[in-house]
Amino acid sequence: MAGEITTRAAAEALQAYGYRITPQRMMIVEQLLAAPDHVTAEGLYEEVKRRYPHISFSTVYRTLELLRDSGLITQTDLGGGRWQYHPADRAGHHHLVCQGCGAVSEVPDGLFSEVHRHLQETYGFDALMTHYAIYGRCPRCR
Ligand SMILES: [Zn+2]
Ligand SMILES: [Zn+2]
Repeated sequence: MAGEITTRAAAEALQAYGYRITPQRMMIVEQLLAAPDHVTAEGLYEEVKRRYPHISFSTVYRTLELLRDSGLITQTDLGGGRWQYHPADRAGHHHLVCQGCGAVSEVPDGLFSEVHRHLQETYGFDALMTHYAIYGRCPRCR
């Protein structure tokens, strides 16, 4: 289990990838860590642009990719190209995504601990089960 993710850990991760630490990049990190819930790349871009109007979307996206590759944040596709990001230490849940209306709800992590154990015991496979999106139909759309 990862510890709490700090702006400093994020800065070190970016540096490890050869990135300079710019105020823009640090603002992306701070916004991400301060967000109470999921954030999208577009949402972050809008926030950061208020203070740094010249920042490009690709800078935001690339920063998110590096943080994801460092394991500090999770990236999940909640359908329709909506990528959602979470600090990895707060990703102890999964999502049910309705393919009819697009509604997204949360289910707790523990729901899949049986599956996880089964995969480990039967197949010797240590499944990486953080922040899943499970597609289907919600009660209204069924
Ligand atoms: Zn639905
Ligand atoms: Zn989530």
